[in-house]
Amino acid sequence: MPTSLHDLTFDELRERIVRDGLRPAHSARLWNALHLRADTDLLARTDFLPPLRRWLEANLGTEFHLDVLPIATQTPSGDGLTRKYLLKLQDGQEIETVVMGYPGRHTTCVSTQAGCAMGCVFCATGQMGFVRHLRPGEIVAQVLHAQRVLRQHGGRLRNLVLMGMGEPLHNYDNVMKALGMISDTRGANIGPSKISISTVGVVPGILRMAEEGSHYNLAVSLHGSTEAERAALIPANQRWPLSELIAACHTYGEKTGRKIFFAWTLIAGVNDTPEHAQRLAALLSGIRAHVNLIPLNETAGYEGRESIETTGEVFHRIIQDAGIPCTIRQRRGIDVAAGCGQLKAERRKRGEKSTL
Ligand code: SAH
Ligand code: SF4
Repeated sequence: MPTSLHDLTFDELRERIVRDGLRPAHSARLWNALHLRADTDLLARTDFLPPLRRWLEANLGTEFHLDVLPIATQTPSGDGLTRKYLLKLQDGQEIETVVMGYPGRHTTCVSTQAGCAMGCVFCATGQMGFVRHLRPGEIVAQVLHAQRVLRQHGGRLRNLVLMGMGEPLHNYDNVMKALGMISDTRGANIGPSKISISTVGVVPGILRMAEEGSHYNLAVSLHGSTEAERAALIPANQRWPLSELIAACHTYGEKTGRKIFFAWTLIAGVNDTPEHAQRLAALLSGIRAHVNLIPLNETAGYEGRESIETTGEVFHRIIQDAGIPCTIRQRRGIDVAAGCGQLKAERRKRGEKSTL
């Protein structure tokens, strides 16, 4: 199986190019084509110098390949600014990537795994089960896809969120390697402060981020403020209980000095009452926190319903009154953005075949 050029960091690419007898400048040019220009067909370029071109002709298709992910399906959102893509991997797996176009600050949401092992009951990806981890190149390729889409519309990608399919901290090494490449100033150059990693609460991963002094933003999906309530929604709570998760958040905050974003999906009658809000506020006391309230996107495999708007507003006010910044995610764009795994689930239900 050939290695993906998108799996190689700047240094790894240079090492290989130099080992094959080329000058290091060629590797910088190749990296630039891959990560800055986001080229999809290197042999179609006419501006590579002969040694690099010969190297590519000799190696592409045999020893190396590119991660260029064809579009299996795409769905524009109602407002036309947000677009969700189902992208096809080489082994036929399909993953979701969302490009969100807020004026002046385009964001992309990428997947880190095909499926997910965590089994959150309300989540379409969790309902599918785990297939495999994505390689670094497959994560990078989603960002490059978003760059190309935005370029066509004169936009530029500024923010990245790891909130697509999969649990990023369950695929820690590949995710961090990919983020290193994506934030490389010689490539896509999305600064670490513009990158958010969302986790269901993989405690060892959070502690590792704290230990490594990670500069990425951390978002923790809570959804429940007692062990039993959270475990009913998130089976992974049995492996990493809420008490350990909150302790890890304290450690992370102390070691990095960074704010933590907490996601709370509002589900009618399940976790949206004023008592739930008060318990959440108490749970977060002493942590530099920001709470993001997300209306539930209803899925076929879960009977829970979205909270009514006024309930969400009361919840929001209680959190804010406790001195914790809190945002209700707007409906705009959410029809495609929040329903992680839903495009794939819907297509599977309709029995549609890929067009590619
Ligand atoms: N695995 C990571 C990141 C992917 S999920 C995590 O769980 O954090 C990204 C976010 O979408 C999480 O906060 C998750 O709880 C939320 N989410 C998943 N399915 C949802 C749904 N049907 N409605 C609303 N939010 C959902
Ligand atoms: Fe996995 Fe996140 Fe979905 Fe839970 S919410 S099943 S962790 S993708």
